[in-house]
Amino acid sequence: MGHIVAIVGRPNVGKSTLFNRLTEGREAITDKISGVTRDRHYGKTLWNGKEFTLIDTGGYVTRPEDVFEEEIRKQVFLAMEEADSIIFLVDSENGITDLDMEIAGMLRKSRKPVFLTVNKVDNSQRLYDANEFYRLGFKGIHPVSAISGSGTGDLLDVVVSDISVEEDREEENVPAVAIVGRPNSGKSTLINTLLGKERHITTPLAGTTRDTTRTRFNAFGYRFDLIDTAGLRKKGKVSDDLEFYSVMRSIRAIESSDVCLLVVDATRGFEAQDMNILRLIIRNRKGVLILVNKWDLVEKDSLTLKRTTEIILGKTAPFTDVPLLFISALHKKRVFDILEQVMQVHANRTRKIGTPVLNKKMLAVISASPPPEVKGKRVRIKYVAQLPTHAPSFAFYCNLPQYIRESYRRFIEKKIRELFDFKGVPIQVFFREK
Ligand code: GDP
Ligand code: GDP
Repeated sequence: MGHIVAIVGRPNVGKSTLFNRLTEGREAITDKISGVTRDRHYGKTLWNGKEFTLIDTGGYVTRPEDVFEEEIRKQVFLAMEEADSIIFLVDSENGITDLDMEIAGMLRKSRKPVFLTVNKVDNSQRLYDANEFYRLGFKGIHPVSAISGSGTGDLLDVVVSDISVEEDREEENVPAVAIVGRPNSGKSTLINTLLGKERHITTPLAGTTRDTTRTRFNAFGYRFDLIDTAGLRKKGKVSDDLEFYSVMRSIRAIESSDVCLLVVDATRGFEAQDMNILRLIIRNRKGVLILVNKWDLVEKDSLTLKRTTEIILGKTAPFTDVPLLFISALHKKRVFDILEQVMQVHANRTRKIGTPVLNKKMLAVISASPPPEVKGKRVRIKYVAQLPTHAPSFAFYCNLPQYIRESYRRFIEKKIRELFDFKGVPIQVFFREK
C-alpha cells in the first residue's frame, strides 16, 4: 500500500524547491513513459529501500499570487486527513509568522507524524536562528537547505523510518480495480450499480488498511477486488472542488490497484483534471479504462460517439489504445461490458512476449526504419527483451543509447502496440547499452 507524505506550509517557504530536491533522480526514471509530462506536485522518492509518494500541496494552489489563508488552512486539513505523514515547512530567513503559528496549531492536533522542517538553513547563522522554531511545540526540528540539499538526507531518514516495508500482494491472479475520477463524475453510482443490493456477491477482505478497503467481487463469472477509498462513501465534507483533494484520494486508490476505471462526466467533457488523473495512472503504470459516464444526458446528434472518442484520444496521445466505454451508471447501461474489458486489460498488463517472437518482429521494424543518424553516428539495435517487471517494459540493447531521440522511442512504442495487444496498458521502452 502506498505511503503518502505531504509538504505543507505557507507560500514561499520553499515547498516546491524541497519537493524537487527530494524527488530528483527518481523522476528521470518515471518520465520514460510517453504521455507523462513532468508535473511539480507529485512524485516518488526512494530512500533506504523504502518508497513513498511525495505531494507538494502548494502546487495545487490555483492562483499562487493571491493565496488565501483559507485555502492554505483547507490544504493543511486535507493533508492531515489523507496523508500518512506531513512535512511542515517553515523558513529560517523569515522566522515565525502568524500563519506558521496557525498551521502549527492545526498540526499539533494531528495523530499522524509531523516533521517540522526549517528551510533556508544555508549557513551556521541560520542554523542558530532555526532554534526559534522549537517554540512551535513539536518534538524536534529538522534544519535543511532545499537549495543546496544539506540536511535533506537526515530528513529522509526520519521520514522513511515509520514506513513499513511493503509486502507483495498475494500472487493470486485477481485484479484489483480502482474507480477514480473527479467529484460528481458518478463513481459512487457506478459502485452501487456494480455491487447492487446483492451484497452476497461481495466479501469484505480482511487485512485491508487505513482508508482503503478492498471488496471481493464474485459474480457473472468475474472475480476481482474493488478498491473502495473512504472518499467514495463519506462525501462532501470538505471542498469537493479542490483538485488537490481528489488527487490525494485518487493516488491512494491508484497505487493499490492493477486496473483503474477512470470515470469522466460526459456532460463536462474530458478536462484538464481528468487528464491529470490519467497521468497519475500512467505514471504508476496501471491498466486503465476510460468510462464516459452520464451518456444518457448527451444529445447524441450534437456530440457523437465518434467525435467524443477523437477528442479524448487526441488528448491521451500517444497512448491511444485505451478502451473507451460510453455508459450510464445511473441507468445501468453498458455497465457490465466494463467487467469483460477489465479482465482483458488485466490480461494485457500481465502479458509476456517471448524473446524470439519479440526479436523477430521488432528487429524487422527497426531494420525497415532504423534510428536516424546523429552527428554521423549510427545506432545499432542488436537485441530486444521484455523485462521481468510487473507492468510491461522493454529493453532495446544497442551501442549508443544516448543518441536515441524521444520521437524514435515513441515510434517504437507505437509499433509494439500495433504488433502486440497492450490495449489499456502503459508500457515503458528503454534503450540500453549492451
Ligand atoms: P513555495 O512557495 O513554498 O513552493 O516556495 P518555493 O520553492 O517557490 O521557494 C520560494 C523562494 O525561496 C524561491 O526564491 C527559492 O529559490 C527560495 N528558496 C527555497 N529553498 C531555499 C533554500 O534552501 N535557501 C534559500 N536561501 N532560498 C531558498
Ligand atoms: P461521485 O462524486 O463521482 O461519486 O458521483 P456520484 O456517483 O455521487 O454522482 C454524482 C451525481 O451524478 C449524482 O446526482 C448521480 O445521480 C448523477 N449520476 C451518476 N451517474 C449518472 C448517469 O449515468 N446518468 C445521469 N443522468 N446521472 C448520473
